Amino acid sequence: DAPIATNFVRNIIKDDLASGKHAQLVTRFPPEPNGFLHIGHAKSICLNFGLADEFAGITYMRLDDTNPLKEEQLYVDSILDDVRWLGGDWGDRLTHASDYFAQMYEIAEHLIEDGKAYVDSASLEMIREYRGNYATAARPTPDRERPAAESLELFRRMRAGDFAEGKYVLRAKIDLSAANMNMRDPVLYRVRHATHPQTGDAWCIYPMYDYAHPISDALESITHSLCTLEFQDHRPLYDWVVHNMRPAPPCDPLPRQIEVSRLNIHFTVLSKRKLIRLVEEGHVRGWDDPRLPTIAGLRRRGYPPAAIQLFCDRTGISKEDKNIDLAVLEDCARETLDAAAGRAMAVLDPLKVVVTNWPEGKTEPLDAPVHPKRPELGSRTLSMSRVLFIERDDFALEPSPKFFRLSPGAEVRLRNAYAIRCDEVVHGADGRVAELRCTYDESTKQGAGRKIKGIVHWVSETAAVPLTVRLWDRLFSKPAPGAEQPDGDFLADLNPGSVKELSGCLGEASLRDARPGEQFQFERLGYYAADLVDSKPGSPVFNRVVTLRDTWGK
Ligand code: ATP
Ligand code: MG
Ligand code: MG
Repeated sequence: DAPIATNFVRNIIKDDLASGKHAQLVTRFPPEPNGFLHIGHAKSICLNFGLADEFAGITYMRLDDTNPLKEEQLYVDSILDDVRWLGGDWGDRLTHASDYFAQMYEIAEHLIEDGKAYVDSASLEMIREYRGNYATAARPTPDRERPAAESLELFRRMRAGDFAEGKYVLRAKIDLSAANMNMRDPVLYRVRHATHPQTGDAWCIYPMYDYAHPISDALESITHSLCTLEFQDHRPLYDWVVHNMRPAPPCDPLPRQIEVSRLNIHFTVLSKRKLIRLVEEGHVRGWDDPRLPTIAGLRRRGYPPAAIQLFCDRTGISKEDKNIDLAVLEDCARETLDAAAGRAMAVLDPLKVVVTNWPEGKTEPLDAPVHPKRPELGSRTLSMSRVLFIERDDFALEPSPKFFRLSPGAEVRLRNAYAIRCDEVVHGADGRVAELRCTYDESTKQGAGRKIKGIVHWVSETAAVPLTVRLWDRLFSKPAPGAEQPDGDFLADLNPGSVKELSGCLGEASLRDARPGEQFQFERLGYYAADLVDSKPGSPVFNRVVTLRDTWGK
């Protein structure tokens, strides 16, 4: 396993366990099921599940489903799938914020009884106006001094469905003069006549995130509640809720919120709102489009989970803003796939080669290692024959001085086979090079014989398998999509060449029965994975995961 970079969250946890503050670490991963998970969520998954693994703790997989309007089963299914795929193991600790609706309601009644919450008939606009801002003081709305008994009665009627949406809200009674706006009597509950995917029509009032989240954490005895930096200003409210909830939380000490920076990646977008637009407006082929930074997209593209884990580790956990180039993620794919992927040869743009001194009809099996550094993976069998194909751009009619591949009169090694010399170039009716006529040198078999500088990949006609290959590139052509557009429109920066679908590619025989998802290094080209949806044994479809080297923009 790669060494895990140290981070400040780990140090806090280490201290808390060493001092005996907590007997066991308890974390949670709490996505809202309103979209697919992306690489930013992967950071949170690796952090929460990774820390629990490291310190023999446990992690709750909690669906944060407090908003009944935005959630869909499709999202829930994909979230669980993606977390599992990334190695997150929650055992039997799959929960929903909605599991706690009854307790949250009971706690709210107690807050009212304790004079810490009141039912307000002010509209949201009025609440906003009365709350003031940094420059202006807050004013109490007329209902702030409503007697507890009256608030309790109204709150019960809110719950019973007596009121239309917007008629009343429940607000915490904290501090209207607080410098932190979140403490100026935040709304805890609002009326929503909506059917909830989990609780159906049992409720017509729903708790706000800032109320539901700390209570869910407390009821699960979460020790360290990790979230992103924009919640820093909400921490006093988080603490207020867990301190004032009655009955008191089952855990002592109370959960502690710790904020870490959000991940941003250049040349892509990580906001669910933008991802939803890309999918719903058809700019991509679906949530699992290989160009998207969604976990499903990365998986379909051919990223192994280990590449994403490496990326999460390498980019670290801190409080500084993280703007990471996509190249960092691509490097993690290269590194993990170099070790994991078997080798194969494929020719994307085939140019026919006839080896004139190779006997008609003769084939010779040639063994090549599946992986040069992993002999335990065994070998694959190539087949040399009279008609071969090489990559069209591995031949140059008029080579530049540094071109060490094939050209008229020049010699090149066919990888894992023999050296050939180009004797004659045959042009087609369109003027393009149609065929090369070459001779092979028997003394150069599999690296033997003279030193020859150039080496090219190839497939033989007798063993070639037709491939469909999809070359994916960056979805956006600007590091910060939309940032330079006058109206901030991120769609204006879509890269028009983000996919090329090639047909007529040829692969060596071992590619014929590639399992969906199986990854290969196509020698000299890059890493490719059989498509999870469209590839079938016998008719393989490959996605380019990443090129061998970072060539983007060069
Ligand atoms: P979005 O803004 O895209 O809607 P979100 O933060 O609302 O994202 P949640 O479903 O609430 O999405 O996220 C679940 C967890 O993943 C949260 O704990 C959140 O902190 C974390 N998370 C989400 N996006 C990122 C990111 N870009 N970097 C790091 N952590 C993230
Ligand atoms: Mg969100
Ligand atoms: Mg959120």
